[in-house]
Amino acid sequence: MEKLKKKITILGSTGSIGTQALEVIEANPDHFELEAITANENADLLIKQAIRFKPNLVVIANEDKYQQVFEALDRLDIKVYAGESALCHAAELEEVDVVLTALVGYAGLKPTLRAIEAGKAIALANKETLVVAGELVTTLAKKKRVPILPVDSEHSAIFQCLTGEFDNPIEKIILTASGGPFRGKGRGFLTRVKKEQALKHPNWDMGAKITIDSASLMNKGLEVIEAKWLFGLRDEQIEVVVHPQSIIHSMVQFEDGSIKAQMGLPDMKLPIQYALTYPERLKTNFPRFDFMDYPSLTFEKPDLETFKNLALSFEALKKGGNQPCILNAANEIAVSKFLEDQIGFLEMSDVVESCLNKISYISTPNFDDYVETDKETRILATELIN
Ligand code: NDP
Repeated sequence: MEKLKKKITILGSTGSIGTQALEVIEANPDHFELEAITANENADLLIKQAIRFKPNLVVIANEDKYQQVFEALDRLDIKVYAGESALCHAAELEEVDVVLTALVGYAGLKPTLRAIEAGKAIALANKETLVVAGELVTTLAKKKRVPILPVDSEHSAIFQCLTGEFDNPIEKIILTASGGPFRGKGRGFLTRVKKEQALKHPNWDMGAKITIDSASLMNKGLEVIEAKWLFGLRDEQIEVVVHPQSIIHSMVQFEDGSIKAQMGLPDMKLPIQYALTYPERLKTNFPRFDFMDYPSLTFEKPDLETFKNLALSFEALKKGGNQPCILNAANEIAVSKFLEDQIGFLEMSDVVESCLNKISYISTPNFDDYVETDKETRILATELIN
């Protein structure tokens, strides 16, 4: 009997994760069918992808680009929609099995919630969604019996370590961090760094926002919060270790003291594919890891004084409520201003810290509180910078 193909929506198909996901889908035509793809601004690439993959639906979030996409795809039997509500529509299409959330930032929250409401399995790359509203998202997913399958390499590693462990309790997880391009540097050096330096990650080729987050260790902070919600952990069960080679993608320590690690060459296509095929593993021709090429794997403590973002993230996690939402919104503004050369590298953490101190605390926020917190924080962060 012919195997049923998984039908996929990719939110953010034009980004780093989105384009790699398309490579995975193209390499496995017997397993996947692409139903919908979406982008924000990059109409040219979205059109190329639509012509190549022929999904049923294409969405461009920026409504000004609608005409361009519509005219280019008019001859083909592909629906073209625009705007935020169309993004949500792509996330809840009846025929879709899995929604890959590969868009960046807070914009992922609403469509992810809509996909869960509609009962779709989530392959989650968009970590900001769990940072902003982890409790809301995971509670809804439990209620709807929808799996959230991690795409982030560290969380995929933990997920893979937990597979087959059933209810064996976790003592702690150890998230590995490459340390980014500025590992070992002091504040004097960091005051002067430019975006061109921060955009050069030693091990991973990623979108601009996550690359800056990796350089400032905010990415690891966001991942700490993401891990809490994905794996139902207490704050003190999450540890971060710097591992510059990025070969061990993360580890789980169980209550008997045994540690399981997941390893491999840094390549996002593997965790993307695993999230799409779980619980199966599909054969790949990705380059294989050879121990002889890496005679030493090394580990260091993260420098929380220089890279304040990681310390701020742990604090926001401990305080809970709307604090992680504030952290995320302030960081999104700070990163975009750093990329526009309007603030220095270290000032990004200053903006985040001020917002965490100034925006009113809400202990048990609902969806509207998150929307309001995000809005207020963006206004304050922008004022602090201008
Ligand atoms: P990119 O910046 O490369 O791509 C982002 C995608 O989201 C693009 O398709 C972009 O469209 C779309 N997008 C951006 N803003 C909006 C918006 N407001 N509304 C709708 N769509 C939008 O990001 P990455 O692929 O690097 O990262 C995506 C997510 O995955 C992030 O949350 C990141 O933290 C996470 N992640 C990424 C990893 C990586 O290796 N890149 C690793 C682990 C996690 P357009 O192209 O038109 O601008």
